[in-house]
Amino acid sequence: MENCVFCKIINNEIPSEKLYEDEDFIVIKDINPVAPIHLLVIYKKHVPVIHELSEDDQRRFWKVFNIIKKLSEELNFKEYRIVQNNGKQAGQEIPHIHFHVIAGRKLGKIG
Ligand code: 5GP
Ligand code: ZN
Repeated sequence: MENCVFCKIINNEIPSEKLYEDEDFIVIKDINPVAPIHLLVIYKKHVPVIHELSEDDQRRFWKVFNIIKKLSEELNFKEYRIVQNNGKQAGQEIPHIHFHVIAGRKLGKIG
């Protein structure tokens, strides 16, 4: 997808440090972290929001939990928050599905 920053990162048009990559997902550090650990698990296919995922897409998402588990072991964090925004009102800035993994400090209530 043209003009999508995450597609550009996935396609290496914008250089980035990839902490993990497989055929469906990449993991990078958020450019503007809200905590000492702030990762983005990004689906490689450009799908803007969860409700636009096909069943085939959905079947690939079980991996997200394994990816987060692997990274939590590698980066040594056990307690964390997963955030996934859909739509502007929910705080989504980049309409390309991704999960935030936030850790390393005490987090307040979700709001
Ligand atoms: P959203 O608000 O869409 O759920 O989250 C988008 C996130 O992407 C934000 O936390 C923002 O800091 C991050 N971000 C935006 N542009 C870039 C970029 O070019 N590189 C990286 N690593 N993160 C980005
Ligand atoms: Zn995209």
